[in-house]
Amino acid sequence: MSAPKPKDWIMGIAPYVPGKSTGADGRKIVKLSANENPLGCSPAAAQSLNAASGSVDRYPDPGSTKLREAIAAKHDLDPARIICGTGSDDVLHLAANAFSGPGDEVIYVKYGFAVYDIAARRYGGTPVIADDKDYGTDVDAILAKVTGNTRVIFIANPNNPTGTFSSREEIARLHAALPSNVLLVLDAAYAEYMDEGQDDGALELASSEANVLVTRTFSKIHGLAAERIGWGYADADIIGAMNRIRLPFNVTTAGQEAAVAALASEDFVTRSREHNAKWRQWLSDEVSALGNHGVKVVPSHANFLLVLFEGKVTAEQANAALMDKGYAVRWLPGQGLVNGLRMTIGTEAETRGLAQALREILADAG
Ligand code: PMP
Repeated sequence: MSAPKPKDWIMGIAPYVPGKSTGADGRKIVKLSANENPLGCSPAAAQSLNAASGSVDRYPDPGSTKLREAIAAKHDLDPARIICGTGSDDVLHLAANAFSGPGDEVIYVKYGFAVYDIAARRYGGTPVIADDKDYGTDVDAILAKVTGNTRVIFIANPNNPTGTFSSREEIARLHAALPSNVLLVLDAAYAEYMDEGQDDGALELASSEANVLVTRTFSKIHGLAAERIGWGYADADIIGAMNRIRLPFNVTTAGQEAAVAALASEDFVTRSREHNAKWRQWLSDEVSALGNHGVKVVPSHANFLLVLFEGKVTAEQANAALMDKGYAVRWLPGQGLVNGLRMTIGTEAETRGLAQALREILADAG
């Protein structure tokens, strides 16, 4: 008898590699590898999590009703057109699952979020990679890849791992040039880190157009990564299709309650955004001052910096040396970023420590 055989395309998937949280010997390190909020979550969200521990014997609300209503009120949206997920990863997978399969093409950018590749392949679709422009999203390169087989396009804005931002005009231009049967997924996991007044118009586009899905998360600025809560917004028919295949109880009661509390915690969100802007600028200046060692920063609109290593010390070497000094950042050769390290903005002490470690590593190399 032969062993069970996975579908043809499954073994072609490169498993997701998560950011490291411990050193090789299991020792605790400063984790700046997963773009989490160094300030934690809001006190109100933490309180909701504790309160929810009293109702673990009951299934959660399968429709995340209260949470969808809170999201709708916050962003002036229709709650019936919101879908909640086990993290926004879940929503991204639901989109690929509902709208693509064998023979279909799924486009994403060269330095894009790793989950797009997995989501595309998982349902048998063919991933198609569009070249970048200076590490950022190149609308013309994406449009050049669109064929009659294109079904889904994934774009993160701001983008992970590069931190680059595509303007409202660029996103609108991309959408306007797409066939109406192509689903444009605008992944806004880092939307809250954009500057005041900076808006790519994603939610407006999803409100008015039948082929745009916006995804958001509570894992980043809201500091609830462990609870796995994300959401999507699109036309009712898109959401209806995704709801048919969504696992019924995909967001826990604690997660739903904590997310509602997080949405109301405006002071915490503002404090987190300001902390990030301040220390991102600081780290960017510190790294730029090391330019004589061949390091440079890609300007970031998110809660991390992509640092390029073009001198004596390679990104791979710097990654290992930082780990030795107790700092886990992210080297992403699997995504073609052999020469860069993505560094999450940490607390003040963590960010200062990271810069100092980097200075020492580059100085030691001469
Ligand atoms: N999109 C992007 C661009 C991300 O960087 C991440 C997290 N790394 C996610 C989606 C998924 O986040 P979550 O599933 O925690 O919502």
